[in-house]
Amino acid sequence: METPKTPTPIEHRIREGLSRLDSVLRSEDWVRARAAGLNPTQHAILEYLMGRAEGAAVRDIAFQLGVSQPTATESIAALERKSLVVKHASTVDKRAVDVCLTEAGSAAVMTGDPAPGALEQAAGKLSDSDKEHLLMTLVTMIKRLQDAGAIPIQRMCVSCRHFRPYAHAGAAKPHHCAFVNAAFGQRDLRIECRDHSMADPSLQAATWGAFHKG
Ligand code: SF4
Repeated sequence: METPKTPTPIEHRIREGLSRLDSVLRSEDWVRARAAGLNPTQHAILEYLMGRAEGAAVRDIAFQLGVSQPTATESIAALERKSLVVKHASTVDKRAVDVCLTEAGSAAVMTGDPAPGALEQAAGKLSDSDKEHLLMTLVTMIKRLQDAGAIPIQRMCVSCRHFRPYAHAGAAKPHHCAFVNAAFGQRDLRIECRDHSMADPSLQAATWGAFHKG
């Protein structure tokens, strides 16, 4: 078949590119999960629970992982049998249960080769400005997906009530984290921060506006 003279829309080719990266991630996830004696879904649940001392509801875990609630429930039951997670009554809703990591569960997440995988190594070969640009693009894409309801709100700086974008305009480290009371640069933006505290919707909108304007 003749190669078409015009390529498919750029959005389609971006998706193709991301899917190639996803296949590398999936294969690395398999290796790390196997090292811990788990399957990738079980391992991803333990990773999600890391740094969430209060635990998480089954439906939130399922939404985060992009799996059905029955699949999440089944994986959580397997983790419970291995004593890697425990369930307890939710502090928010007494009728609900939250799933929490045990000490053995934390240890299982840390099992495996801590060396950077192929994707991190490839990212390491980008120039500093390309890395920063890519991080910004990822933050923006994640924000758009959150707004569309395709993924849950992530613990990123841009949705955190401690984030003060461009509080130090013109400085090498223009942003400020009120939690640790320190300036930080564009390249230090978090995608997953344990100290994240959700800003209310109006503050999130104002923060995003200030961040993008800057
Ligand atoms: S607490 Fe974490 S997520 Fe919030 S602004 Fe500071 S570094 Fe960013």
